[in-house]
Amino acid sequence: MNINKILKVMPYVLGGLILSLIVVMIIIKIGEKEQIQTPIQTEVTAQAKTGKDAGADEALGEQSDKSGKDATDDTGKTGSKTTDGQPGNSENEPIGVEAGTDNESSLISNEDPTGGSEVEDEPLPTPSATPSPTPTPVELIFEDKDDYVETKSDVNLRVGPSTDTDIVTNLKTAKRIKRTGYNEKWTRVVYEDKECYIYTPLVTGVFEEPTEDGNATGGKKTGTVTLTQGVGTPNGHIVCIDPGHQTKGNSDKEPLGPGSSEMKAKVSSGTSGNTTGHPEYKLNLTVSLKLRDELVARGYTVVMTRDVNDVDISNSERAKIAADAGAQAFVRIHANSSTDTSVNGVETICMTNENKYNGELYASSRKLSDAVLNNVVSSTGAKKRYVWETDTMTGINWAEGPVTILEMGYMSNKEEEEKLLDDDYQNKIVLGIADGIDEYFK
Ligand SMILES: [Zn+2]
Repeated sequence: MNINKILKVMPYVLGGLILSLIVVMIIIKIGEKEQIQTPIQTEVTAQAKTGKDAGADEALGEQSDKSGKDATDDTGKTGSKTTDGQPGNSENEPIGVEAGTDNESSLISNEDPTGGSEVEDEPLPTPSATPSPTPTPVELIFEDKDDYVETKSDVNLRVGPSTDTDIVTNLKTAKRIKRTGYNEKWTRVVYEDKECYIYTPLVTGVFEEPTEDGNATGGKKTGTVTLTQGVGTPNGHIVCIDPGHQTKGNSDKEPLGPGSSEMKAKVSSGTSGNTTGHPEYKLNLTVSLKLRDELVARGYTVVMTRDVNDVDISNSERAKIAADAGAQAFVRIHANSSTDTSVNGVETICMTNENKYNGELYASSRKLSDAVLNNVVSSTGAKKRYVWETDTMTGINWAEGPVTILEMGYMSNKEEEEKLLDDDYQNKIVLGIADGIDEYFK
């Protein structure tokens, strides 16, 4: 080979190499762009069962409700309206709405193919510039589902799984609707008897139950435990929510704590509203389901001890459900009652430092109790009572992780009962609890 010849050809060879390098880089860049908006979604809905039979009459289970004994520091009277915290978050739609979602641009926001300020919403119809290999069939393959999803607010339901198809309706607020199919991009739902499609990243949660209303399902004697994992950014924390009581109490006895010879009724049916007669167990479930949704939206994994009213789960069994799930916070939702109808306000309950069953959980449980109490008081403006430390609660004594009972307010007090049954007020309570839980884990 002649060296001169090689030297002559060299510039052409090098030039050719550089050119092809540039071409390759351009191709890679285009490839990346196409992959950018892969939806992030994990959702798990698992189910477990706690077996039990034997329904029985109600009994005084947890003494908290009956003994609400307003102790010393209670001035009652006018109460209620004192706002020592902020007036609470006055958003109308706290449940399932993620912070910073787009409410302002309503109709246009998810749709606007021109401005497109909202990155996380529906994908814009792919501009024809990029030579994509026609619509991926993946979008048309649906995994069968038979459950319920909650949407963000201001989202479109469409005729087909594509932004090119017509809009059936725009959901102004977060809604829970039936889901029949799923893939990473599109979720098939049934809305007002019509089959529609919603862009999957606009779905915030997956649930087994259709509504807030866990009506008795007819002699259901076992509790359904549902585990719902956030579809947003999971924060790694597991919370167990225990909606206090159930349709019918169970006066059979169980030990007050592990190894205790002292026995207590398994579970009572709770108190009820003085004026309306609305049962506490229903209120507890209503608020608990809202709380579940809020926590899931915040990235928590949530385990419910029950999600219907007609169950038979004792207080120690509820603690066991929380322990088995590895709950890092066991939050028990109750409402209070007192013979003195002027008594009102919020309190939380945990064990004492000397509790012989699980005193080692005192510090964390007290911290959780303080955080929940303070935040509920500031979100609702309700009267702050105190953290009651007691070792008389079966469900606390059997707990294997940080635990608190929230007594949301007094159903024996006319004004507070009215508030407790009010949807907006319940939402404030829920925000307070969720903020308290956030604070606890901070
Ligand atoms: Zn109760």
